[in-house]
Amino acid sequence: MVADATSKELYLEDHDFSAIYDTCKVSTKDKYFRHDGFFFKENKLCVPNCFLRELLVREAHGGGLMGHFGITKTLEVLHEHFYWPNMKRDVQRICDRCITCRQPKSRIMPHGLYTPLHVPKEPWVDIFMDFILGLPSLGKGEILYLLLWIDFL
Ligand SMILES: [Zn+2]
Repeated sequence: MVADATSKELYLEDHDFSAIYDTCKVSTKDKYFRHDGFFFKENKLCVPNCFLRELLVREAHGGGLMGHFGITKTLEVLHEHFYWPNMKRDVQRICDRCITCRQPKSRIMPHGLYTPLHVPKEPWVDIFMDFILGLPSLGKGEILYLLLWIDFL
């Protein structure tokens, strides 16, 4: 999201933030403040009620590095950096409608028997990549994440 006149307009026209955004022109109020054209509550970016909310929820739930972990984890990821009223309701609604999450739970169309995995004949044909995040803090020079590669050969 780029701060420009559009983001200011979004905040000013937003039902959730317009009043408090206007009162924070010069100073903070109730933990809300403006910075570089963006609007924050504490250290979390306030997201106006527009397509961005659904986009962020979908990214936090099933985006490139996420794994459809469910409502609680999706909410936890979003809570780290973003704020909007009724975020839990939006996360629940979008996660409940997620087709990927619903497929394994389907009783109408069972997926059949398990089949053996393909065994590759050369290295680096079938690989798996994952990031391990949320490692405990080790202080100076700490490791923030691990990148894991698995070759199925
Ligand atoms: Zn999902």
